[in-house]
Amino acid sequence: MNLVDYHTHTYLCRHAVGEPIDYVKMAVSKNLTEIGVSDHLSFSIPEDSIPLDKLELYVNMVEEAKRLYGDRIRVRLGFEVEYSYDSLDSIARILESIDELDYTLLSIHKMDGWIVNSSRSRDKYMEVDLYRLYEKYFNLVCEAASYRLFQIVAHIDLPKIFGFKPIEDMKPLYEDTAKRLAKAGVCVEVNTSGFRKPVAEVYPAREFLEILRKYNVPITLGSDAHRPEDVAYRFRDAIDMILSVGYKSISVFEGGRRIEIPIF
Ligand SMILES: [Zn+2]
Ligand SMILES: [Zn+2]
Repeated sequence: MNLVDYHTHTYLCRHAVGEPIDYVKMAVSKNLTEIGVSDHLSFSIPEDSIPLDKLELYVNMVEEAKRLYGDRIRVRLGFEVEYSYDSLDSIARILESIDELDYTLLSIHKMDGWIVNSSRSRDKYMEVDLYRLYEKYFNLVCEAASYRLFQIVAHIDLPKIFGFKPIEDMKPLYEDTAKRLAKAGVCVEVNTSGFRKPVAEVYPAREFLEILRKYNVPITLGSDAHRPEDVAYRFRDAIDMILSVGYKSISVFEGGRRIEIPIF
């Protein structure tokens, strides 16, 4: 079976532990086909980002892990990039300057000045119209994807993290989002970190994944590990869901180019 983990962090973002090589070793021990290191790059939430003066160190550490373990596993260099329109040019310049880059995850944690996944934001969810909130979030994701700067959408329905879900039928919104993502040519990550959060399910929700499948939006897999032991966290459950909605392959990336590999 081909399993890949395209979403991992390192101590450089200052809220995770471990070096790239620790994640790579863990991925080898769990028999993964590929491991992607994708630490945070964020202008709008600088306290959660790799400091810009550590970018070179980051790239060098991933390259070193590649050199040492490349005969046992394919190691990919990535970033989880926080999308904000204001920082788009700066982000693009940085990404273009890194020759070794394989892929970027597009992620949105901050919207309208508040952090969607911060436990301090729980009260905010009580105040807002949840359907409008999800609609706005998906719109922002589609807007970001349309710039074709990012290969993979990370944790696509993050606003559900604390279990706040609209009572309305979400299907039309999922349909609209899936169509726009298909048009943007972007891949969506099945992210198992939701199992570690109050919502206790993967991103995206099963119904959403079914619709993404319908529009042939490619997928990949990520644990969003912030410590090496979470590499490939509950991938068995994710794979069961992926197969049951009809996907037979997952995507990997080399130098920004998408390659589809069979799950079996
Ligand atoms: Zn994230
Ligand atoms: Zn992450």
